[in-house]
Amino acid sequence: EAKRLGRGQVVAYSPALSSEYEKRVMLEKDLQAALDNDELELRYQPIVDPRSGRTICCEALLRWQHPTLGEIPPSVFVPIAEGTGMISRIGSWVLVSACAEAMHWSPDIKVAVNLSPLQFKQGHDIVDIVTDALLRSGLAARRLELEITETVLIDDTEQTLAILEELREIGIGISLDDFGTGFASLAYLNDFPFSKVKIDRKFTQNLEQSTRTAAILKGIAQTTKDLQIELVAEGVEKTVQLDYMRSLGINAIQGYLFSRPLRATRLRRVIAKPIIPSWSLERSGRTVT
Ligand code: C2E
Ligand code: MG
Ligand code: MG
Ligand code: MG
Repeated sequence: EAKRLGRGQVVAYSPALSSEYEKRVMLEKDLQAALDNDELELRYQPIVDPRSGRTICCEALLRWQHPTLGEIPPSVFVPIAEGTGMISRIGSWVLVSACAEAMHWSPDIKVAVNLSPLQFKQGHDIVDIVTDALLRSGLAARRLELEITETVLIDDTEQTLAILEELREIGIGISLDDFGTGFASLAYLNDFPFSKVKIDRKFTQNLEQSTRTAAILKGIAQTTKDLQIELVAEGVEKTVQLDYMRSLGINAIQGYLFSRPLRATRLRRVIAKPIIPSWSLERSGRTVT
């Protein structure tokens, strides 16, 4: 049986007895203390222009270093934080931390922060929270991009639109994340003031097997080009995927091919120079010096 040993400490789970429910309840309790105990950390993943190897933007991605369970991915604990309402506090911390970290980068590199739909549902408070993060860090609004998913757009359309427009007026970029999953429709691009669309990695990884996926992507590339919305390809792991993206004129690439999400200190060094994988140098006939 899993028992708590007082604050923040958890006995190793007994696999036979710990149900999914028990695990969740325990993680819920532990997450309460995680922020105060410095167990939450942001990693940063570069988004690269493959023509130059230069980093355009870095996405902040949450990690939880659990004292006994090790690293817990955001796909597990973000839903828990949303369920308990803790996502507001965590989300504000993410905003301030990411903006402050970006102050250590070249000023032409932006920072992208994921927003939970729930943070958005707090109404206009989100505008204050974002403005506060910019003021406290000193980061220019044009260097911040907020990533939201289509779930934000489904209800309260008018309030959502008003908030997005307010954020755009401040100079902040708004990205539609995970495009190509769920019900994401090109109509959203007409109805909401997005500056960027991010193609989901499942979509990228489907390209090779599915000519339909490739055809849809071609359409998205043309539409975003016509609307002057930037397009980012996520989850690019292979050169064939990169080549296809580039053939469509997509020149903002995020994926393991260029870099995994990195710790802040390591990232600062990596983005200070072009990220050019060795295969690219070989292919272009250049040599590593
Ligand atoms: P996302 O915003 O779509 O982030 C991209 C995810 O793709 C990240 O997963 C990243 O590590 C992963 N990824 C990037 N390139 C590759 C690749 O080439 N191959 C593969 N297999 N994966 C790649 P991660 O870090 O596990 O985050 C998962 C999701 O958790 C994020 O998806 C985002 O929705 C959420 N999340 C992360 N940080 C935060 C946060 O601070 N706040 C909120 N609300 N959600 C967050
Ligand atoms: Mg994202
Ligand atoms: Mg995504
Ligand atoms: Mg996602």
